[in-house]
Amino acid sequence: ATPTALAVSSGRGSQLGILVSGPEALESTRSIDTVVLDKTGTLTTGVMSLTGTELSPADFDVLARLESRSEHPIARAIVAAAPEIVGTGSAGAAAGTISTVPDSMGSVEESARAASASSMGTAAGSPVLDFENIAGGGLRATIDGAEVLAGRPDLLREHGIAVDFAADSVPRGATIVALAIDGQFRGLSFVSDEAKPTSAAAIAELHSLGLSTVLLTGDNAQAAEVVAEALGITEVRADVRPEGKVSVVSELQGQGRAVAMVGDGVNDAAALAGADLGIAMESGTDAAMAASDVTMVKSDPQQIPQAIRLSRRTLGLIK
Ligand code: ADP
Ligand code: MG
Repeated sequence: ATPTALAVSSGRGSQLGILVSGPEALESTRSIDTVVLDKTGTLTTGVMSLTGTELSPADFDVLARLESRSEHPIARAIVAAAPEIVGTGSAGAAAGTISTVPDSMGSVEESARAASASSMGTAAGSPVLDFENIAGGGLRATIDGAEVLAGRPDLLREHGIAVDFAADSVPRGATIVALAIDGQFRGLSFVSDEAKPTSAAAIAELHSLGLSTVLLTGDNAQAAEVVAEALGITEVRADVRPEGKVSVVSELQGQGRAVAMVGDGVNDAAALAGADLGIAMESGTDAAMAASDVTMVKSDPQQIPQAIRLSRRTLGLIK
């Protein structure tokens, strides 16, 4: 393609809300045969809600206080559900969990903040110490002097905590959040989100362009398969840790496939950079956009086949 054609194309692309970093991005669509798609936030709305919990209100309060430190869609769902589950007003404020503000908290101001968080029955302002975000797994911190760990059941198991539950206790397609306090498993909570309205059509269009699709997610296999089935994706890679996403891309490339990767998260950045064509959703993280060749301004999955069509047309591959 001539530079002019590319310029015209990026002009048309930007009308469609597709931002292309440069000519190489378009050129790579010549060979792309596989599109790898992140699940949460890319094909699903990324707006999660709580679908159930086995936790007592007091334990749910501890979980919500931990999750209030995270920006993850799971965290937002837990924090949003807390007022209803934990209850509002001092009577409902997680019996006793905040009553022992450690002396080390010291300042009157901090104690006042903790007390006011308690009386609201929410996570806001409560003392969460030594917070740690465990990428692709969950969160840990010290809360009210107790060691709190929440996330994938396997994360707890990796910390030597026994997590036993019946598979049929998990709502269909739900993401599981397991909670442990001081090394003791306390129960599960379940969150889920929904496919974006245009995801199924986008996948069908990619298939009609002759591309194969792969669903790639850090979420559990069951949750991944429910989404894959609904959208018509037959190849699924689930339970993939953030550092594993780029390995999946290079594994596919090793099979001789030319790979486009579509994602939105920090955990997708390496895979986006490693793919032959990286496509980011603008609603996602800056890290994802920085690592990508193409940004979908509308965060609409239908822009993926649109972008591929557009660049193929620019390259004269189709009329
Ligand atoms: P995805 O590929 O779906 O964007 P992530 O890599 O962000 O997933 O997370 C992978 C898994 O780690 C999640 O499905 C969840 O089980 C767990 N996880 C991540 N962040 C949190 C959190 N804040 N609270 C609980 N669990 C979490
Ligand atoms: Mg995501």
